[in-house]
Amino acid sequence: MSGDEEARHKERTQKHKAVVDARIAAATQDKGLLLVLTGNGKGKSSSAFGMVARTLGYGRRAAIFQFIKGKEEVGERAFFAAHPGVTWERCGEGFTWETQDRQGDIATARAGWEKAKAALADPAIHLVVLDELTYLLTYRYLALEEILPPILARPPMQHVVVTGRAADEALIEAADTVSAIRDVKHAFRAGVRAQQGIDL
Ligand code: ATP
Ligand code: MG
Repeated sequence: MSGDEEARHKERTQKHKAVVDARIAAATQDKGLLLVLTGNGKGKSSSAFGMVARTLGYGRRAAIFQFIKGKEEVGERAFFAAHPGVTWERCGEGFTWETQDRQGDIATARAGWEKAKAALADPAIHLVVLDELTYLLTYRYLALEEILPPILARPPMQHVVVTGRAADEALIEAADTVSAIRDVKHAFRAGVRAQQGIDL
C-alpha cells in the first residue's frame, strides 16, 4: 500500500470503529430473548443446541423440548442429556405421515406442551429450546393462543429458542431475534444419507 492509501485505510477503519463502538455503547439492556430460527436451510436445531452449550458453559440450566421428531436420535441428546444442568424431553412420535394417527399426535403434542409450560414458568431455567415447535401450529395440533401466552409470560431473564420451518407470523412478530436460514444446497439431494455429527 502507498502512504496515501494507508492513511485513507486508517481513516476509514477508525470511522468504522467509532460507529461500532457507539452501537455497542448504546446496547445496555439485559433481557430474556425470544429467538426464532426458521427457513428451509439446514442449521436451525443445531444452532439452538449450540446455545445450550453456551448456557451450560456459564453453569446455567437449559431445558430442551423436541416436538414432532422426538423419536429421532441426535448426537446432542446423547451428549447433553446426562448433564446435570439439562432437562431433555422428547415430545414427538414423528411426522404425521409416519405416525398416521392425528389424534395420537395431538395428544402427544399437548402432553409435551404441558411440560414445556412448566419450564417456561421456572426462573431457574436460563434457556428453553422449543425444537420444531412451528409444526404444532402448521399442523394445527395446538392453537397460537395456547402457545404464545406462556412464552410471553415467562420469567423476564429467561431465553427461548423456537426452531422449525415456516414460523407463524405472530411468533416472528413477538420474537427479538429471527433468522431465516436459506436452503442453497443440501447433500441429501445429491444422494448422501444423514451423516453422524452433521445431520443427526
Ligand atoms: P439441523 O438439525 O442439522 O440443524 P435443521 O434443524 O435446520 O437441521 P430440520 O428441518 O429440523 O433442519 O431437519 C433436520 C434434518 O434434515 C437434518 O438431518 C438436516 O441435515 C436435514 N435437512 C435440513 N434441511 C434440509 C434440506 N433443505 N434438505 C434436505 N435435508 C435437510
Ligand atoms: Mg430441526
